[in-house]
Amino acid sequence: SFGDTEAQRAVRENDRQYVFHSWSAQGQIDPLPIAKGEGVRFWDYDGTEYLDFSSQLVNLNLGHQHPGLVRAIQEQAGRLATIQPAMANDVRGELAKRIVEHSFDGARSVFFTNGGADANEYAVRMARHHTGRQKVLARYRSYHGSTSTAITLTGEPRRWANGTLDSGIVHFFGPYPYRSAFYAETPEQETERALAHLRQTIELEGPSTIAAIILESVTGTNGILIPTPGYLEGVRALCDEHGILLIADEVMAGFGRTGEWFAFQAFDVQPDLVTFAKGVNSGYVPLGGVVISEAIHETFADKPFPGGLTYSGHPLGAAAGVATFDIFAEEGILERVKDLGERVVGPRLREMAEKHPSVGEVRGTGLFWAIELVIDRETREPLVPFNAAGAAGAPFAKVVAACKAAGLWPFAAGNRLQVAPPLIISEEDLRAGLDIIDAALDVADAEAAA
Ligand code: PLP
Repeated sequence: SFGDTEAQRAVRENDRQYVFHSWSAQGQIDPLPIAKGEGVRFWDYDGTEYLDFSSQLVNLNLGHQHPGLVRAIQEQAGRLATIQPAMANDVRGELAKRIVEHSFDGARSVFFTNGGADANEYAVRMARHHTGRQKVLARYRSYHGSTSTAITLTGEPRRWANGTLDSGIVHFFGPYPYRSAFYAETPEQETERALAHLRQTIELEGPSTIAAIILESVTGTNGILIPTPGYLEGVRALCDEHGILLIADEVMAGFGRTGEWFAFQAFDVQPDLVTFAKGVNSGYVPLGGVVISEAIHETFADKPFPGGLTYSGHPLGAAAGVATFDIFAEEGILERVKDLGERVVGPRLREMAEKHPSVGEVRGTGLFWAIELVIDRETREPLVPFNAAGAAGAPFAKVVAACKAAGLWPFAAGNRLQVAPPLIISEEDLRAGLDIIDAALDVADAEAAA
């Protein structure tokens, strides 16, 4: 309970003594002990309350302790807690059916994984077996996970220390109008030039050697980059021209984050493989997967698929996934995400962009937004250098600290505050959180001017 310093000390001690943490120098971290989570909030042991504007790692789409999710897991645990993947199971089948029905034209089946990285790992493996080709094109400014192939697909610094684990991967640039790699001056130019660059990349790498192109339908951690008009459709056309498969990584953007079941559904494009995780059950039980097209499914109709996982389609995760579909319908989640994004978040962020000189650009959709902070609006020099560490990152760290001191837990990446609260957030909480960000941007303005 709150204020129980004994319990807090034990949590901290065991953590520091025995838990090895992701992405960290183990001697330089002090993870915050958490006592409780409820809806859009969580609390430390001192009773300090945080409004979660990052949905943990952008997975907690239905918030903490959603009664419908908890009930589904409890009921499933009482009925059949686990069953191995070679047997057929009711909730596993039901979830696969619902995902297929809500994904893309020509979707046929689902291969379940434990999370997002292995979903991408398996999608690539399927693409390679289906096409008989080895190369995969992936974008810079992307995150696809941390296993061997997934970290090599990743197009940002987390790959640097790991990135030779899969030699068949080539990176290219996608559209990013604010920092165009193509000197484009309009979104239309950006689309045209990004597609010309991709066409050349394909030609120079050898179309007949390329199994797939993978991309985040809306780039998440690397900046909420929404495809410019016609871009995804153009990528699809290049894929079709050359017999290349299109893999949409929907691990972060899927399951309602953008106000669609899957983010690609806002565009006129149908992928061949879709990977998902996180929002499928808000991460209450680890679960991810690959949605597979009819044609790829057929490749493995008479030839065994060479891959598998002990926990593929785990009943506890699947039960929470089925409940997610029910809750989305009951609570009108997609409609409210679209409404809150258009009516509340967009206008409020644009207001902040007007008011704060440190805001270079705001962009986003649904409950998935980025505020890009700069030293100078003219030069667009970021508030902190790319991949800044230590003292170089201090100006941005102060902005993040100001949010936390005011009770808001932001999603912070590079020189960006990203807005990604649970999709169940009330309008009142959403406005309160945006007010905290507005105030924290005064700190950003001061740092930019310093
Ligand atoms: N793909 C995207 C777009 C992600 O954002 C993430 C995680 O943040 C992953 C893949 C990896 O998922 P996981 O951490 O479940 O392996």
